[in-house]
Amino acid sequence: MSETTPIGVITIPAFNDNYFWLIHNKQYAVVVDPGDAAPVLAALNQFRLQLVAILITHHHADHTAGVLDLLRLCEVPVFGPANPKIAGITHAVKNNDTVQIPLMGLEMLALEVPGHTLDHIAYVATTHGWLFCGDTLFAAGCGRLFEGSPEQMYASLSLLATMPDTTLVFCAHEYTLSNMRFALEVEPDNRILLARQKVDTNKRANNQPTLPSNIGLEKKTNPFLRCNEPSVIKSLIKHGKIKAGSDAVTVFTALREWKNGFR
Ligand SMILES: [Zn+2]
Repeated sequence: MSETTPIGVITIPAFNDNYFWLIHNKQYAVVVDPGDAAPVLAALNQFRLQLVAILITHHHADHTAGVLDLLRLCEVPVFGPANPKIAGITHAVKNNDTVQIPLMGLEMLALEVPGHTLDHIAYVATTHGWLFCGDTLFAAGCGRLFEGSPEQMYASLSLLATMPDTTLVFCAHEYTLSNMRFALEVEPDNRILLARQKVDTNKRANNQPTLPSNIGLEKKTNPFLRCNEPSVIKSLIKHGKIKAGSDAVTVFTALREWKNGFR
């Protein structure tokens, strides 16, 4: 296989609202966050692909529980955080490591993005402009803070937001429509958000994923990437969540707490 072999990404829906991502070149494949082996094996079978590596973003079971079952059937390297809670990791990755998949001519940059969990890693296929960010950045939202601080999550999201606007965002859950309901509560007059809601509502009505998103769209519609936007700040002040003059981390913290209680 040469590096010019086109590489694509297959969506594997799992559980209620998870997506596992299968990066492939029509012969070999890498799976991101296999929380269950069965749908991964079905996709490998359906598309006649040979699994050559597993990537893990963080320790939660819906991202990891399929690893050992897959390893029983295919002995492949497993890249992920150095966290003893994750069974099967063969290659622990840390910030700025490069993950190499030589059979596919694929290189991915690992970034530590703590916040949702402390061990969370995002993988960037720089040459393709793909971001696999697990439960850190979601379409129109972000992950809950189970382990990290608001400062950590804000820094992690800000780092992801520095990527080129065209970067495709492959996050791990189909939360987009409910995230957008909250985003519109914060910014009811955001026209790009209103247009996005129409597009993505149609996709879900046709049982299509709303993902991948892209960084440019997220910067225009995702309140958690808009902590410096006057419209977001004004809305938080109006709803009594922050005082005027609050810094961006305070804005982020108030948004995350508001979302936690939003139904
Ligand atoms: Zn998680």
